[in-house]
Amino acid sequence: MKKCLPNHTKVLLVIASPLIITLILFPYISRELGSAKEIHKQWIDSLISLQDVAASRGEFPVSALLIYKDSIIGSGYNTFRKLNDPLGHAEVNALRNAFEKYNYHQFRRLNRDSLIMLTSYEPCMMCKGIICHHEIRHIFYLKPKPLRKKIDYCFRNLRYYFKIRKIRAE
Ligand SMILES: [Zn+2]
Repeated sequence: MKKCLPNHTKVLLVIASPLIITLILFPYISRELGSAKEIHKQWIDSLISLQDVAASRGEFPVSALLIYKDSIIGSGYNTFRKLNDPLGHAEVNALRNAFEKYNYHQFRRLNRDSLIMLTSYEPCMMCKGIICHHEIRHIFYLKPKPLRKKIDYCFRNLRYYFKIRKIRAE
């Protein structure tokens, strides 16, 4: 006799499957988009030395470089422990560093196809969000997120919900 899944499980699977597929495919999609770009060895050396700076300051050894037309325009490493800054991820700091050189309008005018974000690890959800917001399409990382962490994210996202409501300002 054919066994069927309960209805609520089917609904959950239908709702969750695009999220799961996106989470699983993101590294492959980003790697695919970035595959035409060339990554220079000196960038990787700079990335690793910035990781070491982060580690020497008691941070997670994560660093990021923002590259535009073969020049490093922003660099950063994790600072969220030292500066008690919840946004202090390496990718955000690299973007902040670039914004010190370019104002917002200049940054917006840069050719999106010539921007590369190079990071130590696959970016977290927050950094993926900010990278997406600034339309940086080429992302390279040295190490993927461990599978256990990917699964943790996936389940956390499935359990998480928030209440968002429009209110009227009188
Ligand atoms: Zn991050």
